[in-house]
Amino acid sequence: MRLSTSTLVSAVVLPALVSAHDIHHARFQPRQAAPASSAASAATPSTVAASGVTSAGAPSTVASAASSISEPPTASFSLLSSNANAVPLSSINANAPSQATVALDTTYQAGATPTVVSSAPGLPNPSSLVISSYPPLDKTPPTDSPEVQQWIQEVANSGVSIPNFSSTVAGGCPANAAAVADTSRCWWTCGGCTRDTDIVSCPDKNTWGLTYDDGPSPYTPTLLSYLDEQSLKSTFFVVGSRALSYPATLQAEYMGGHQIAVHTWSHPELTTLSNEEIIAELGWTKKIIKDVTGVTPNMMRPPYGDIDDRVRAICTAMGLTPVMWTRISPMATFDTGDFDIHSGATSVTQVLANWENILGNASVMDTGFIVLEHDLFQQSVDVATGYILPDALAHKYTIEPVVNCVNKPMSDAYIETNDNSTNPPIASGGAATLSSGAPGSAEATAKAGGSGNSSSSASALVSSPKSLGLFALTTVIVSLVGGSVATLL
Ligand SMILES: [Zn+2]
Repeated sequence: MRLSTSTLVSAVVLPALVSAHDIHHARFQPRQAAPASSAASAATPSTVAASGVTSAGAPSTVASAASSISEPPTASFSLLSSNANAVPLSSINANAPSQATVALDTTYQAGATPTVVSSAPGLPNPSSLVISSYPPLDKTPPTDSPEVQQWIQEVANSGVSIPNFSSTVAGGCPANAAAVADTSRCWWTCGGCTRDTDIVSCPDKNTWGLTYDDGPSPYTPTLLSYLDEQSLKSTFFVVGSRALSYPATLQAEYMGGHQIAVHTWSHPELTTLSNEEIIAELGWTKKIIKDVTGVTPNMMRPPYGDIDDRVRAICTAMGLTPVMWTRISPMATFDTGDFDIHSGATSVTQVLANWENILGNASVMDTGFIVLEHDLFQQSVDVATGYILPDALAHKYTIEPVVNCVNKPMSDAYIETNDNSTNPPIASGGAATLSSGAPGSAEATAKAGGSGNSSSSASALVSSPKSLGLFALTTVIVSLVGGSVATLL
């Protein structure tokens, strides 16, 4: 059954999210560092990109408009494999014309159940969604609605104590000196502080917990098609506003065996919001996912990674476990930067160089890893399906959704199907408490790019933040020749 979403998509607005991402990235999100040694030996990046165009065979629908991006001198990369049908590198840029989007391979009847989620309830019929019963798209929902008031009460009844931190203000670390100095907040954004209750990696080496954020989008079906071809499953951190706009795509993700998780309703920096607003952002996203799929996720990712102990406590009270992306030093976050190709803030060459640095860092870690990628824009999906995923497959990583990489079955990813023994939803369990203003010693940095942090604070639920040293960065220089990759160094 093909589900009509035409009445729902008309109000989709993306610019606010795009703008917020750009501001955030520019101000306080360090990129995967390029190794210092590569600058002197790097091949000419433009040659790499141009070779890719020639060899990969540009689809006729893709114009060969040159990117306005000036390639960083250190952007170089090595790929063991790429997709024979990949969009040429020189066509993955801010000027890329919109490609025709593909239809979903499969749509599903109401009442269907996914094979990988045992005891799942039947799939709802999204044509019964009433858009006016949800908050406006891409805005923090009002907190005076009956739904949000109920969720606020449930948080109050959960037994979880919410630390009494003030909200941060827009502008990131430089604009929030007091909050940065208050290390008991364990604010990830300014210093990378994490708690043991955060999922920050996969425990097993050479395991990649695959994630895509900010969808579903018109380009998600292209990604799903490739994942199906390769028998890969991912975690999708879903924006509630996008789920309301593309319910059939969300159903295809869920029924296809992928993990669905929460990424807020309107993609704000959560630490800037009041407790009630955070509850509204998370609650409405849980609700739209439940209304479309029949199940409620119990994992979430904070937009921009913006989380502190206040946000963590609210997540705990709402039965949500935070999932970050791996970060081993201020300049080695496992962020491909793929989101920024669309705006022109970065180049696909730089993204692939970031990817290679991520793999170099992963190779010296004792654990697996989680990487930040997105399925909101065509360019991000093009680089994922054309280059990053084929390369990862050639590296023989174990690639799986986050819930599986932490050695739990897919049924543990949802409140309705969780067996409550390996991952009990806190909100319904009640007893756990979070100390207000838990003492901490995280050495959060005063601004992006500062030194790393460490801490050994502990409380009932919030225990020691992880401290990780800077791992060696590795790189190799390559050239794309005749559709394959030759390693020069
Ligand atoms: Zn996001």
